Amino acid sequence: MSWAVMMEGGVQINCEGRRFHDETQGYSEAAVHVLAQPGGIAWNVFDTPLLALARGFPDFCDAEAAGALRRCESVAALADCIGCEPAVLQGTLDAMRAGTPPPDGRVFSRVLEAPYFAVKVTGALFHTQGGLDTASDMRVLRHDGTPFANLFAAGGAAGGVSGDAVWGYLSGNGLLSAVAGGYIAARTAAALIHSTKASA
Ligand SMILES: Cc1cc2nc3c(=O)[nH]c(=O)nc-3n(C[C@H](O)[C@H](O)[C@H](O)COP(=O)(O)OP(=O)(O)OC[C@H]3O[C@@H](n4cnc5c(N)ncnc54)[C@H](O)[C@@H]3O)c2cc1C
Repeated sequence: MSWAVMMEGGVQINCEGRRFHDETQGYSEAAVHVLAQPGGIAWNVFDTPLLALARGFPDFCDAEAAGALRRCESVAALADCIGCEPAVLQGTLDAMRAGTPPPDGRVFSRVLEAPYFAVKVTGALFHTQGGLDTASDMRVLRHDGTPFANLFAAGGAAGGVSGDAVWGYLSGNGLLSAVAGGYIAARTAAALIHSTKASA
């Protein structure tokens, strides 16, 4: 589901009816927090204005078409969907009110209003950080820093520009290093073939 919905006011709630982190930190961070919750799951909760935003994203539309979206007319119905105590959930939503000291540092500009919408989520791997060291022409480097003559790596196989922790993830870098690195690796390989043929 598009993370924009969380950034713009949606929240993640665990099966006890509580928020458990600052959702604006990003989706890499969120995956770690969600997996630490009971059952390793959470509910992405939002309301009508955010539903309109979500429907601008094809992946959300696919999830909705697959039946992932639940509509809840009240806090009690949302609690029933999540499987938590209504009073706990009500307390969680009340704590979002502007002016309430935020336990996790996130300040909300508005409160979610019924009807509520909820999607059950868990953490999953969708990119990797780290990988084989490469030279600028995408030849793989040995431990001593010298390049293999004809071994290349790009994309998920190669170390990218993201850092080595969840906070080090830079959005969009998976495709950047796959497409740009793949192009450079192919160009290097073509030059290698050309020079090999020329010297044969
Ligand atoms: C849901 C999701 C959303 C994402 N959103 C973004 C985004 O918005 N922006 C972004 O930059 N990145 C995004 N990514 C990450 C991005 O898709 C990856 O970083 C990128 O595709 C990596 O490219 P790659 O070519 O290295 O590897 P892959 O795309 O994984 O390609 C590897 C290919 O090798 C094939 N393969 C594997 N083993 C073998 C084998 N033994 N023999 C033959 N073929 C094999 C696989 O089938 C696959 O086709 C997203 C990923 C996911 C899952």
